[in-house]
Amino acid sequence: MGSFVTGQIIEARCSRCRDITGHVVVACLKGIPVKVECRACGSVHRYAAPDAPARRAQEATVSVRAGRDRTQAVDAAAHAEAVRGERGERPCRQSRAERSREEAESRWRDAVAGIVSQPVPYAMTGCFPADSLVDHPVFGVGAVLEVFPPDKMDVLFRGGVKRLRCAC
Ligand SMILES: [Zn+2]
Repeated sequence: MGSFVTGQIIEARCSRCRDITGHVVVACLKGIPVKVECRACGSVHRYAAPDAPARRAQEATVSVRAGRDRTQAVDAAAHAEAVRGERGERPCRQSRAERSREEAESRWRDAVAGIVSQPVPYAMTGCFPADSLVDHPVFGVGAVLEVFPPDKMDVLFRGGVKRLRCAC
């Protein structure tokens, strides 16, 4: 686990200068530089430690690699974020979220059970009166709580209340 931060100036091997030059850390992953910008030539490339051997074969394809490195760095960062989210303060937040999800679901079940009409497939151009059922392709079946003319309505779905477009 390193202790580098984005924006820090460090010594690194530049693939274009083919020398050890000052670099600004552009992207960091777990405190280890992933991408650096050479202060001498301005090229942005994957971090190579000053004591790393020059990699001749890869120098020829540096521009292609730069693009791929960016994607990889973004993927890696997103993955790290997801991992952190799973390990971090989630258990506490999850139980609260879990509780409110169950509340919303039982509210939804009661609301849907109280309406006898058949669900109508949702369309932005449709008109849905309050206390009718909507069948949404993503959110599923929901109960129309309130209509806000001319074009909005609140619908209670299993996952909670959503404000949808309509033509009422
Ligand atoms: Zn350079």
